[in-house]
Amino acid sequence: MDQMFYQTLLNSVTDGIYFVDAERRITYWNKAAERLSGYTAAEMVGKICSENLLRHEDESGCALCEKGCPLAATLCDGKEKHHSVFMRHKLGHKVPVTVQASPMLDSGGKIVGAVEVFAENSESLNIRREMELLRKEVLTDKLTGIGNRRYAEITMRNLDHAMEQNLAPFGVLFIDIDDFKAVNDTFGHYIGDQVIHMVAQTLMSSLRFLDVICRWGGEEFVVFVPNTTIENLTGMAERLRKIVQNAWLMHDGEKVSVTASFGGAMSQHNEYSIAVLTRADKQLYHCKNSGRNRTVIDNTEEKRLLCPNA
Ligand code: GH3
Ligand code: MG
Ligand code: MG
Repeated sequence: MDQMFYQTLLNSVTDGIYFVDAERRITYWNKAAERLSGYTAAEMVGKICSENLLRHEDESGCALCEKGCPLAATLCDGKEKHHSVFMRHKLGHKVPVTVQASPMLDSGGKIVGAVEVFAENSESLNIRREMELLRKEVLTDKLTGIGNRRYAEITMRNLDHAMEQNLAPFGVLFIDIDDFKAVNDTFGHYIGDQVIHMVAQTLMSSLRFLDVICRWGGEEFVVFVPNTTIENLTGMAERLRKIVQNAWLMHDGEKVSVTASFGGAMSQHNEYSIAVLTRADKQLYHCKNSGRNRTVIDNTEEKRLLCPNA
């Protein structure tokens, strides 16, 4: 068989494969190794693997290149090694991999190099996926499918970190469905639940990718709007208010619709999210006292009241 045959064969397998010589200089790097690591053969061939490009680490984050390198150990004792380690992708993220290092011997039995075969560690990937699913479940409100109160609190912590680093100001909207007790009284709790779900989904589908909506409790929602201005926040609240007003749920051949009140506030310099939320909540109170189905945005110096005319 010619060399081309072996090249094609090595490039057709899904595991990453590379060869090193006795000095741990990389002499071959297959296509799967390129895919798994992000490094091309041109970038890797000729490099010494102890240059630590892949930065193999164990579970506790300890670098293996100097002391625990499976290839170095194989080159030393001629024995095959199996390990579960982490490799650093060219883009920076860690990839869990299983590694098998085997010696390459010449016809006289002398160690002339080694081969490493590595593959994504599917057990570790499954655990990561499970963790993702679990996290989603813990942070999602069961009735509406939007973020729950816990997710709101995490978002607030993130906004506070961003504020401490002087990043762009954010806006908060506090939303409460109007006269919701009457919906429960008229149609019962089950339809009441469906209406809460309908409003939540209507709001969520009308937001930008970076905005976060959570159910704060009962029929109250909070929207966090990063990197915005008071003009954008005001326009957005009014747009959402009208969308909610025009949405409905079909029940016994009839449309059940509700309106909602929107209180809002923009973060001020050095202001924590809980303070912004409290100001937004105060504006919601003004909405309720001045007739409902309206938006009131506060920026501390100037209070903006928008009455519905549509
Ligand atoms: P307002 O315009 O002042 O907000 O009037 P409201 O009737 O909406 O009053 P309020 O917001 O104080 O009360 C909300 C009601 O929503 C009280 C509670 O019975 C009902 N509610 C809270 N959570 C749920 C829920 O998960 N499902 C249903 N069906 N009703 C709920
Ligand atoms: Mg309420
Ligand atoms: Mg209400």
